[in-house]
Amino acid sequence: MYQKPIPLKTQDNQPYWDAADRHELMLQKCQTCHAYNHPPGPACAKCGSTELNWESQGCHITGTIYSYVVSYRPFLPGFQDELPTIIVVVQLDHLQEVKIIGNMLDCPPEEIKIGMPVKMIWQDITEDRALPQWIQA
Ligand SMILES: [Zn+2]
Repeated sequence: MYQKPIPLKTQDNQPYWDAADRHELMLQKCQTCHAYNHPPGPACAKCGSTELNWESQGCHITGTIYSYVVSYRPFLPGFQDELPTIIVVVQLDHLQEVKIIGNMLDCPPEEIKIGMPVKMIWQDITEDRALPQWIQA
């Protein structure tokens, strides 16, 4: 039974989470300045345009660790069994301007380092929800 908070789908992020549920990455892209807008929102973070649409990135997503935090303290219910939690910011290989935050799975905290190659996996947390996470490539 998955006890952690499940990300809520909103009008702005629904295509992102729907894609995650089918193990695919979708990114929001600004039609005005052509920047990728991640995390998704109602307007482009760069130019403020609301002309945004969605672009599939497929299901083979790789990147490198841009920064990370190792958390030894359970700050949310449901996380106490698997400490420490490693939260990583990953720069995508094919879109260097996009950075995606997630948990690094199956990695001892002493091995994590900036620049480490990683790939996205999708953790099925309920029958119909999945979360993008990262493992060593
Ligand atoms: Zn823009």
